Amino acid sequence: MPFGKREVVGIVAGHQPQSELAIAQLKCVTKPLGSRAALEPLQLQLAHWLADYYHHPLGDVLFNMLPNALRKPVIGGAYTERCWQISTHGLGLPATALARAPKQQALLNMLRSEPERWTSDRELIQSGHAQQAALQLYKKELLHQTYKEYLPHDCPSVLQGNKVRDPLTLNEEQATVLAQIRASQDQGAVSLIEGVTGSGKTEVYLQAISDTLVQSKQAVVLVPEIGLTPQTISRFVERFDCKIAVFHSGLSDKERLAAWQASRDGEVGIIIGTRSAVFTPCPRLGLFIVDEEHDNSYKQQDGLHYSARDVAVMRGHFEQVPVILGSATPSLETLHNARQKKYQYCVLTQRAGAAVMPSVTFIDIRKLSLHDGLSDTAIQAIADTLQAGRQAMVFINRRGFAPLLICHDCGWHANCDHCDARLTLHQRARRLRCHHCDFSTAIPSHCPRCQSAQLLNIGHGTERSTETLARLFPSTEILRIDRDTTRSKSSLDNSIQRINEQRPLIMVGTQMLAKGHHFTALDTVIMLDVDQGLYNPDFRGAEKTLQLMEQVAGRAGRSTQPGKVFIQTHLPDHPLVRTWAEHGFKRASEDMLQERHTLGLPPYTYMALLRADSRTPEHATSFLHAIQRSLSTQIAGTHVQAIGPMPALMERRAGRHRAQLLFKSTHRKPLHSMLEATLRSIAGGKTPSGLRWSIDVDPQESV
Ligand code: ADP
Ligand code: ZN
Ligand code: ZN
Repeated sequence: MPFGKREVVGIVAGHQPQSELAIAQLKCVTKPLGSRAALEPLQLQLAHWLADYYHHPLGDVLFNMLPNALRKPVIGGAYTERCWQISTHGLGLPATALARAPKQQALLNMLRSEPERWTSDRELIQSGHAQQAALQLYKKELLHQTYKEYLPHDCPSVLQGNKVRDPLTLNEEQATVLAQIRASQDQGAVSLIEGVTGSGKTEVYLQAISDTLVQSKQAVVLVPEIGLTPQTISRFVERFDCKIAVFHSGLSDKERLAAWQASRDGEVGIIIGTRSAVFTPCPRLGLFIVDEEHDNSYKQQDGLHYSARDVAVMRGHFEQVPVILGSATPSLETLHNARQKKYQYCVLTQRAGAAVMPSVTFIDIRKLSLHDGLSDTAIQAIADTLQAGRQAMVFINRRGFAPLLICHDCGWHANCDHCDARLTLHQRARRLRCHHCDFSTAIPSHCPRCQSAQLLNIGHGTERSTETLARLFPSTEILRIDRDTTRSKSSLDNSIQRINEQRPLIMVGTQMLAKGHHFTALDTVIMLDVDQGLYNPDFRGAEKTLQLMEQVAGRAGRSTQPGKVFIQTHLPDHPLVRTWAEHGFKRASEDMLQERHTLGLPPYTYMALLRADSRTPEHATSFLHAIQRSLSTQIAGTHVQAIGPMPALMERRAGRHRAQLLFKSTHRKPLHSMLEATLRSIAGGKTPSGLRWSIDVDPQESV
């Protein structure tokens, strides 16, 4: 449709028989794209819910729900091919009329044998004809031409399942959980499977999906961003004969569109994907699964700040379809819902098969002398593991070589020009890089302040630990896995494949290594730097850190050999960590819930953030102050508290000054009324130029 001087793709979300505007003021839709609606009524219902709940414009919500390719003004499907059909004129032509063009005559004769049929260029070539002949016939109006959608056999986003494995015999706990899920099949119920790492949650999902497919319905499986490896996908491909749509970051827009269309047309039985796959249209939806439901990647951090997990629950409700949330480390929100009996609570306490839970040892590194960050105990544990022909993992949640470059003589340190953050040293790339914006600069040879050459690298990142380990274990293969070494999706896939070859090696990596991987030869896990997370000023810091520790620990000992986990810490007496070590994650979660209750924090209260940022210092804060003042009479006497405005923890990022106003309430309804009032206030006032703002309902980060 026309929009100002441009032409844009829009979505008709509704219409009215009459307009208040004069006809002359109205514009016409230029042309419809395609012949069918992009969204079905149930999706439109979901869109309206999203717009209301996240206080986000409906138009942008709708575009979030649709594949990118549909935003571009191209007509037709992901893959189209030219097709031909004989015309009436062609049919009436005598069979020898084109004697001087034998190729055209032969083609015409072939098409004449099935006059209704559309024959594609591909089929034409396969049967020995030429596209050129078809074109000539078309010019003579002896043929009709059109473009039709088709799905190529080697499309990487729509896979053909090929069942070569049978279901495993479930253990008692798994069988109980599956029975619980079956019993709640039809009411759009939500079940939480809280199963320790390696307890066989995936096997339960697979058998639940099997039920769904038997009823000719479709199942959607959401997985975290890093979790969607070829290994994960092959577990599905090897178990089912149906077509499987896959949505991951390595696909082109065209491939995504193909998967989207195949799902919408009901051609696939299973849809596996990351966050945005939650919107995939399914005419016969029968089951929703959100694996690792606690994972941060389910929450979109910009634009529409939706949580794919929460959208899945809502969609299950609208479409009356059961939803399974699975995790070894459920979020406190989900755990609370399960304890409140809003969700069915299913638990798996044991590892499946012959595997047992790994042992956990704390290494108190206070006063210990370390070898470039590694204790003797840790080094010995790695050596023993390699000796036994097994694999070890060193977890350090910081990429780069060293997080701090400091001048020994004057104390200068390298800061980002655009953020309130230090630059991380990347040795191999010979750069100092900011991990919060895309700024980078060459490593200086001298201190820019005092010219001293005494520049020190303080602290450890994955790059440095990899180097240290290479020195300590010169004949061992060391795989570094972090965002720097896995810029392309295939490099992560290659590393994982290498690990799965099961030869002794050491993997060094960030939280990318924590997510759902099943490495059968991995016996020993060393965690180097978890203390940091416990100091995080965000109230979710401890929850996230314990989840990470449990998940990283959970990679060890997943087959027959018992696993060992060593945690180097300066905080061996941290109460939460103690509880975790002595009584397990579940008890620690319960303690955290108790604390949240006492402090009046989520899930016992609800939060929303109004964030603002601007290039000019103070603009964001004064904008938020104005909003807060305009709301003050409405806030009085409600259950809503407005806290702030306050600068963000990292006040300046990528050259923008950031501030936020936090709304907190014991009830959802008044919170949402307040957000509506906020939007009205913003619309009615003047927004300083260059200021950006956004609303984040249920923020995952609130500092
Ligand atoms: P989770 O998803 O809970 O971390 P997985 O589903 O990956 O666990 O299972 C861990 C391992 O246990 C896998 O190798 C899987 O094949 C195996 N497994 C799962 N269920 C059973 C079972 N009932 N009997 C034997 N092995 C099982
Ligand atoms: Zn200096
Ligand atoms: Zn920066």
